[in-house]
Parts: sequence; structure tokens; C-alpha cells
Amino acid sequence: TGIYHSLVHLSEDDRIPTQPNLDTATYVLSQFPPLDQAESQVALIDSTTHEQVTYARLDRSVRALAAGLYHGLGVKKGDVVFVLSPNSLFYPTICLAVLSIGAVLTTANPLNTVAEIAKQVRDSGAKLAIASPEEMHKLVPTGVPTLVTSYSKEFDNALTIQELVENSEPLCIPEAKPVQSDTAAILYSSGTTGTSKGVVLTHSNFIYIVKLLKWSVDVSNAQKDVFLCFIPMFHIYGLAFFALGMFCAGTTTVIMQKFDFQNMLKAIQRYKINNIPAVPPVILGLVKHPRGAYDLSSLRRVGSGAAPLSKEVADRFREKFPWVELRPGYGLTESTGGATYFVSNNQAKAHSASSGRLIPCFSAKVVDVETGLTLPPHKQGELWLKSPTIMKEYLGNEDATAATFDSDGWLKTGDLCYIDRDGYLYIVDRIKELIKHKGFQVAPAELEAILLSHPHILDAAVIPVEDEETGQIPMAYVVKASGSHLTEDHVIQFVADQVASYKKIRRVRFISAIPRSAAGKILRRELSQRNQGVLSKL
Ligand code: AMP
Repeated sequence: TGIYHSLVHLSEDDRIPTQPNLDTATYVLSQFPPLDQAESQVALIDSTTHEQVTYARLDRSVRALAAGLYHGLGVKKGDVVFVLSPNSLFYPTICLAVLSIGAVLTTANPLNTVAEIAKQVRDSGAKLAIASPEEMHKLVPTGVPTLVTSYSKEFDNALTIQELVENSEPLCIPEAKPVQSDTAAILYSSGTTGTSKGVVLTHSNFIYIVKLLKWSVDVSNAQKDVFLCFIPMFHIYGLAFFALGMFCAGTTTVIMQKFDFQNMLKAIQRYKINNIPAVPPVILGLVKHPRGAYDLSSLRRVGSGAAPLSKEVADRFREKFPWVELRPGYGLTESTGGATYFVSNNQAKAHSASSGRLIPCFSAKVVDVETGLTLPPHKQGELWLKSPTIMKEYLGNEDATAATFDSDGWLKTGDLCYIDRDGYLYIVDRIKELIKHKGFQVAPAELEAILLSHPHILDAAVIPVEDEETGQIPMAYVVKASGSHLTEDHVIQFVADQVASYKKIRRVRFISAIPRSAAGKILRRELSQRNQGVLSKL
């Protein structure tokens, strides 16, 4: 039939809880180790301060913060809470507390600009924000009341999370408990076209992904495992794994505020890290850089997700670190981060160009983009997915939602792939407009809108250019007004002043006209081919 189903299933013990009135936080807290162990079992460690948080302390802070938000600040079911912070010991507490009272999480990259943040606050309808001291100033222009994650002199009037936790009884029984079908989070993704949209994820979506993550890390070993978290918790990858999922496996996680290669090596040695969910640039870094004086013998498993990992890099990693299992996976925000993964190291080694097979509860098909026909194994087409982790909709955007789902509820991923006879997924290219720089989303439409706001720019198109270190970089083709003395550097600076650093345009070419279809759609493939032609002549 051309429809693939997961070949692995959850065991009886891993059954997904089906009771309707269950929220993600209540479920995650119920999976914490039993009380006698929870007082000593360490859930989180800060890699810089070395401060530790036990499961019991985490449980108390979540309940106290929930009570503070609900009783103290009047945050109600359905209210959107905007979190703007790098990774920290507090991040999981904030997420769990917000979810436990039925409020809705929305997160953003702390590098985002004031304008980008104001847009997300407006779009999501945020009622309250929680920000790290360094990012507080970005919330001021929005007028949204904001809590600060830790004391800062500059904002000494702002209530800190710590104060709210200390002044609240860790008891909270809101009248309106969330149910599985309620919205839990609104995360931002550009989907297959256009600018960022709010991906509406429900408690049910999260309960499934948390279960699947627990299954994927192999629970019997996981309790003893020490994980390293530098993947950001504002992105679905870090949010699902480290703000929610790993607590159900009883693991210890060492949190890095932000990624730094040397600090990562130091942390692996100091904390005898066993397990790192990583991204391709980090795998490449491990392949390329000398190991130096660091002892990495504790590593047992390294994951790779969020962007393509080349077969060559995967093979070189396995050669250099033969004692480490490299387990790539594939997913997207719209599927709450999951879709494919390797359940065994031998399978991963034997299929090093693949992103693995469907995880439990997932179905897939490969569809010819032109004809809409479902394709047989080995034929390339768009990947469509179905699973209980697939988003509900794009917030307030019926057109985008309708364009992303087919009438049977399949999610169109915008990724070009094939699936082999044994069910292994190979991502070949991206049909959607999305650019991924270091695993972060950059929407060409957003950069094009900024370019078009320049008085000397008549037309513009932004395309990805492949880059070994970072995956892809955004490049702009620009048509300038006649007589204009606009330079490439000026265009780069004009955009850089208005966007987060990871979205910067890093290359510009002037062109006489942007190739467009009869309907006015930018012919991005033509521009990419033109750019490759230029490169091959250099
Ligand atoms: P995001 O919603 O930010 O997680 O981005 C999802 C997109 O990242 C996917 O639709 C793919 O285009 C890309 N992606 C994620 N994982 C992989 C992978 N293993 N191989 C290739 N592309 C990937």
C-alpha cells in the first residue's frame, strides 16, 4: 500500500496513559523516582556552578512555582507564558510548573531581537513572561509583566522565580485542571513556506513524546546514565528531551547554558558523561578536533538530530570513537520532535546515510509532489507522517494548517526522501523553503521581507548555501534600484541590524531579475543551481 508503520512497538510497561484528564506535568512528575530515592537521586547539575538539584527538590520547586503562578499571579488555564532564557537549572521547573496549571508555554531563542520577540508575544497572545536577567530588557517594550529567573540589579523591582518559589506552599489544586487535548505549547516554525507560525502542541502530543523518549534511551541502562544537555530547551529537541522526557527515565542531566566545544569536552570528563543528544556541527567538531588531554572514555551514546548528518561524517565519527554508539534521528517541531531513530547500534552502523526507522506510533508514506501518488520503496518523494505526536494546527492560520495536512490527516513535512525496503528513511533534500543554520530555523520569507523594506532594493530572494561547519548559510539575491550604490556589505549589515545573529545573511549577489513562476513564486531551485554553477567555475 506504500504506507510504512513502525516495526517496533512499546512494551506493556511502556503503554501510553489514555485517561483524558491528564496533563504533561502531572504525568512527568508521576514518573519521578519513589520518595526514598528522590531525596538523593540527582536530576540536574549546572555545568558552570556545579549546583545539583535532586528529584525531590525539583518536584517541590515545580509545585511551589505552579502555586505561585496560579494563586499568587493569577495565571489561569489557557494563559500563554513566554519563556526567554538560555538553558538553566530553572528551565525544566518553569516548563513543568506552567504546564501543570494548564497554562501554555511559548519559548524563543534568547538571541532573538526585540522586534522578533515582540512579534511572538503578539502572535501567541502571551500574558506573562519569564526571562533571564540578560534578556529582560527585550520584554520591556512589549509591556507584558515579566518575572526574572534570577536576581539582577538592573531589574531589582522584578519578582524572581526564586522569590515566588520560596513564598508559595508547594500545593496547587487549580479548579480547572488541563486535559490531554488542551494546548500545552506554541512553538514557532516556518513549516513548508512563509514566515514563522505557532505550532500548537497538546498535552497528549507531549505525553506521547515523553513516553517515546523514555523508550528510546533504553530505560534499564538510563537510570545510571549521565546526560549532557547543550541543545537548547527553547527548541523542541531540548524541550522534549531535557525539560520533560528524561525525568521519566530517572537520569541525571548536566546542563550547559550554551554550547562551547572546550567546555563540552571538560564536562564529559568531569561528569563522566555517557549520553549526548547532539546536532551535526557538534559531531563534525568531534571528528575534526584533536581530543587533547580530555578523557572521553565514559561516552556510550551520541545522538544526532535537527539537521542532516552526512554519511562521511558519521563514518569518520565511528572510526575515531569506536566505543561510542552514534544514533541519528529525524523529526520536526510539527511532530513534537520525533519520527525516526535507530534502535540498535548495528543497524545504525550498517545504514550510515539513513536517519533510522519509524519510532513506535508513527506511520509514513512517500508522496510524488507532482502527481500526489504514494510511491513504493526507494522512490523519492515528499515524506508524509501520521502519529499521535503530530501538532494540532498552526495558531490562527487556517490556510497554513490546511496546506500542511491532507484530507486524511497526513502531515506534509516538506522534506524530500526515500524509504528503503527495510523501512530505513533517507532524507535527500528539502522541498520546503526552510534554511537550517547550526540546526536553527531561518525562514527565507522573513529575510526577504526585511530586504524589500530597503528603499534601494526592488526585489530579493534568499536561498540556502551548503556549508560544512554550520549545515547551511542564508544567501541573498538582490535586485537594486537603478543608480543605487548599494554594496554587498551594506545589504549584509542592513539585515544583521534587524535579526538574531544566526539568521544573518552571509553572502549577497546582485542580479538583474529574480526568476519567478507565472504565479509570482520565487524559483529558488533555479537560483540554487545558478549559485552552484558560479561555485563550480571558481
Ligand atoms: P525543526 O522544526 O526546527 O526541528 O526542523 C525540522 C526540519 O529539520 C526537518 O523538517 C528537516 O528539514 C530538518 N531535519 C531534522 N532532522 C533531520 C535529519 N536527521 N536529516 C535531515 N534533515 C533533518
